[in-house]
Amino acid sequence: MKIGLFFGSFNPIHIGHLIIANYMANYTDLQQVWLVVSPHNPLKEKSDLINMYDRLEMAKLATEDAINIRVSDVELKLPQPSYTIDTLTYLHEKYPEHEFSLIMGSDNLASLKKWKNYELILRDYHIHIYPRPGFEIQEFKDHQSITITETPLMELSATFIRKAVKEGNNVQYFVPDKVLKFIDGKNLYR
Ligand code: ATP
Repeated sequence: MKIGLFFGSFNPIHIGHLIIANYMANYTDLQQVWLVVSPHNPLKEKSDLINMYDRLEMAKLATEDAINIRVSDVELKLPQPSYTIDTLTYLHEKYPEHEFSLIMGSDNLASLKKWKNYELILRDYHIHIYPRPGFEIQEFKDHQSITITETPLMELSATFIRKAVKEGNNVQYFVPDKVLKFIDGKNLYR
């Protein structure tokens, strides 16, 4: 099966992520998209990162009824920090029957050169890029491993949602209802 991996902190998962995952899973040659919850992105600030099990749970709640989208907890079990190349190698060995590729916004492509063994990633894995405003795709554009897919976009960030919740603002529709209930029920991000 052709599986696209969409990595993220998902702190919390929001409809911006879900629109991409759903589009890639149902409108491209990918057969499934796996949301891979990263315990901690080595290139990101850690300060307001909530525990990874809650983030995993929210990703699961958000995709309970989704078609062709799954949530993977693989990085919760691997040594931390988990680098994408190591996770890819692990998955490739564990599921030899699947063909894994990456899904990435053009914002991430801009920082790809900072990733561990990025040349190996480009050599061995296909990358599906979706354009994000403000991040033009220049480098790697013509690389044979890269496909550019225009997806619908909802420009929303988890940072925005965390701040809104903290300030007592309403985030209905920015996250699925089940996620909203989970955030409220556990008093997260206050
Ligand atoms: P934060 O605001 O905490 O940095 P985020 O909303 O960017 O978080 P991540 O969990 O880092 O969320 O996102 C996972 C992946 O989804 C990243 O590669 C990021 O570029 C991408 N992404 C985030 N928000 C959107 C969005 N609104 N539309 C499309 N892609 C997004």
